[in-house]
Amino acid sequence: MLLPIGLIPSIGWLGELLVVLAFAGGALASASRTRQGSGYASGNLLALTPISLVGAIALLVPEQIAPYKTELLVAGASWIVLIASAMLMLRLGNLRRQRDALKQLAETDALTGLANRRAALMRLESELLRRRAEGVSFGLIFVDSDHFKQINDSHGHAAGDRVLVAVGESLRTLVRASDTVSRLGGEEFLLILPGAEMDACERLAERVRERIESLALAGGEGASLSCTASLGVVGGDAGETADALLNAADQAMYAAKRAGRNRVVRG
Ligand code: GH3
Ligand code: MG
Ligand code: MG
Repeated sequence: MLLPIGLIPSIGWLGELLVVLAFAGGALASASRTRQGSGYASGNLLALTPISLVGAIALLVPEQIAPYKTELLVAGASWIVLIASAMLMLRLGNLRRQRDALKQLAETDALTGLANRRAALMRLESELLRRRAEGVSFGLIFVDSDHFKQINDSHGHAAGDRVLVAVGESLRTLVRASDTVSRLGGEEFLLILPGAEMDACERLAERVRERIESLALAGGEGASLSCTASLGVVGGDAGETADALLNAADQAMYAAKRAGRNRVVRG
């Protein structure tokens, strides 16, 4: 209000120049980051280029753009909002994919690619809930490789790892898609079998035992290697918590060890 009247147009022009420089600077910075492969920078470039061009034309040839200036600026601003929302959606999609990948990583055993102990316990909790709510029965098979320490000692740790991968793979091929095969840790595996009755679980455990016994495995320096396992079978009513169920399955497996190994014991 205190400015001399003659200065007002120049100040307005200066203000517009600063705004255009800010947009153009943003667009140029984005262009250089786009060349370095940044996907978000190309979004910024796409968003800022039209309004920077409109601003530059308005400064350089104001009389030619005057009739459409407001509409063009509004269109440029709307374009920025549109691109910003599209980029936000892309970013959200990427974050969701990253979250799913991290979750998958946190629940997977690195050596065998099976579910890990944490995932197995979560699956047990949800089967316990389903049993209480819907009365759906389930079974558990605890698998422990026999004398695994000797396998490592005689053939090396790498050969031991290959045995664990082969055992995990054979367990996976013997179960249904709705079952969970997990590596609890070391040479111990757990099968969670929703909807399975005890007799069916026991028959499956026997097939697992036979499959592990007949695996053709290569030990260190071309030597052949054999592996057996002891298995404990329990129903989902053997405990009221995931830990109690695991413990009951573990006890049945230990009974199989005590009875001479390479066998199935029903808890
Ligand atoms: P048992 O028949 O009584 O089960 O005897 P075991 O030797 O299988 O059982 P023990 O618990 O004494 O030894 C387990 C061995 O498993 C010892 C450990 O070095 C080995 N082990 C655990 N995790 C891994 C692994 O990721 N890779 C390899 N190669 N060996 C492992
Ligand atoms: Mg063990
Ligand atoms: Mg063992």
